[in-house]
Amino acid sequence: MNMDMKVIEQMVEQALKEIAAEQPQKFTAPKVERYGVFDTMDEAIEAAAEAQKILLFSKIEDRQKYVDALRAAILKRENLELVSRLAVEETEIGCYEHKLIKNRLAATRTPGTEDLVTEAVTGDNGLTLVEYCPFGVIGAITPTTNPTETIINNSISMIAGGNTVVFSPHPRAKKVSQMLVKILNKALIEAGAPENLITMVEEPSIENTNKMIEHPKVRVLVATGGPAIVKKVLSSGKKAIGAGAGNPPVVVDETADIEKAAKDIVAGCSFDNNVPCIAEKEVFAVDQITDYLIHYMKLNGAFQMTDPTLIERLVTVVTNEKGGPKTSFVGKSAQYILKQLGILVDESVKVIIMEVPKDHILVQEELMMPILPIVRVPNVDLAIEYAHEAEHGNRHTAMMHSKNVEKLSKMAKIMETTIFVKNAPSYAGIGVGGEGFTTFTIAGPTGEGLTSARSFCRKRKCVMTDAFSIR
Ligand code: NAD
Repeated sequence: MNMDMKVIEQMVEQALKEIAAEQPQKFTAPKVERYGVFDTMDEAIEAAAEAQKILLFSKIEDRQKYVDALRAAILKRENLELVSRLAVEETEIGCYEHKLIKNRLAATRTPGTEDLVTEAVTGDNGLTLVEYCPFGVIGAITPTTNPTETIINNSISMIAGGNTVVFSPHPRAKKVSQMLVKILNKALIEAGAPENLITMVEEPSIENTNKMIEHPKVRVLVATGGPAIVKKVLSSGKKAIGAGAGNPPVVVDETADIEKAAKDIVAGCSFDNNVPCIAEKEVFAVDQITDYLIHYMKLNGAFQMTDPTLIERLVTVVTNEKGGPKTSFVGKSAQYILKQLGILVDESVKVIIMEVPKDHILVQEELMMPILPIVRVPNVDLAIEYAHEAEHGNRHTAMMHSKNVEKLSKMAKIMETTIFVKNAPSYAGIGVGGEGFTTFTIAGPTGEGLTSARSFCRKRKCVMTDAFSIR
């Protein structure tokens, strides 16, 4: 009996062990991957601040690895197509095929850590280094017109510079911005980077942007957008980089290759339905060649309006009571705009052109639609003068089609624009068919101009006396 009891006890003990082994493991909630998207602005900033402390001590080689991971993530076909398509769907601005080009451009042509060139001075007193060093956490405000391009471009530049970044996108681009921030953070983590090098809030709003502007852990503000947000960051009391509005004029003189000029102007003006801040917004053509120019523009996809009443109807339809662009028309196609006026055309129509006087609203306002007013002027000097007036001192972008080197230089000097394109579409100025690096934050108002990693860094000095000079 005793023996039996012992056996039973052993069997029970064994059974209990087996049951215990089968018990499900203690429940732990699965980690919700935020990939940089937070409920509150405070959380987004704190996370970026913690990440920056780690980034500060990572090697330059690692930073470059992270930059390469960002590039690769965007160049993955499914990601590139996804963010390009979602940007157009959510904002209802621009054109999918051109977003593909712009996003790819931001991924491939934004400089990385090679932009941070160290200066070294040696002499009898030793060695002094001047290096580009990070600020810390940067608060970056992005526009509806280039929502993903700006996030890609700024992320590469800012992380290459050793900073982390909190984005404040336009509320009308929140879904695509979140999607992109998650894609980028995932790629960074897979490349071994700290979490949260790039963050944002789930619900972007003016209130959240204000919190970001005021937060003590945000060291620098970068605003890519219209005049209101640029003014706001410049009034913050912090270091601010303002990339503001443009109204790029084109001058065409009698020496230009008119056929090519017409083709280039239509191509540049219609790129992404004219939303790029660098795109052709008005033309000043020398009288002698204006008719030829219009003729060739029409052969290349321009629809000409000649009836003054129709032109005024167009103005009423696309502008608001303040004289600015109606949001619902920004970045829409020429075909769409004409349809609202009862004019049906096919997709081959890319741009709407009309002759107007130089002070016309279509010339003076930045509309960001493929509507291109043409002003006929007696000579090239007057064309340059009017172009200068229409640019309103933004010092952003201007184009000229001419073979007269003297006049090309004259216009470039007078305009003082960050980008000046000769005999090509405006987009050559950001690297589409033109040489050089790209940027989607062109800081005219604060003077950094073409921003890259070094624009988001402080120059600091490291001095070693009486050694390390081997001359
Ligand atoms: P926008 O000025 O309406 O918005 C830009 C950003 O600023 C958005 O994130 C918006 O939410 C925010 N914002 C605007 N006013 C604000 C306020 N008072 N308080 C807080 N946040 C505010 O411009 P948009 O329509 O999105 O973009 C088009 C404008 O941006 C055009 O003027 C264009 O020329 C300019 N832009 C300039 C560059 C450049 O590199 N210089 C690049 C792209 C766009």
